[in-house]
Amino acid sequence: MTAAAEHPLTAVFIDVEVEDAIAKDPEIAARLEEVCPVDIFATRDDRTLEIVQENLDECVLCELCLQAAPQGTIEVKKLYDGTSLKR
Ligand code: SF4
Repeated sequence: MTAAAEHPLTAVFIDVEVEDAIAKDPEIAARLEEVCPVDIFATRDDRTLEIVQENLDECVLCELCLQAAPQGTIEVKKLYDGTSLKR
């Protein structure tokens, strides 16, 4: 059984890592929620950032999230080839 089958909500192709300080910043969290075309980012009731696991594989690698956050705080990992997008 593959890991994906055991954990159906775990993304197979894409993972997004966000620095803690950014995830706790309500302004940046709201901006990320707004820019991502496939709703990978959401804001919780306390206005911190949530990564929507079930949408991760919808990532279109548009880099809008990288532009919306301070440099070096977000990494979009392409699990299928081991590379990542960052700025
Ligand atoms: S690269 Fe684009 S689609 Fe992927 S998480 Fe960032 S904003 Fe969303």
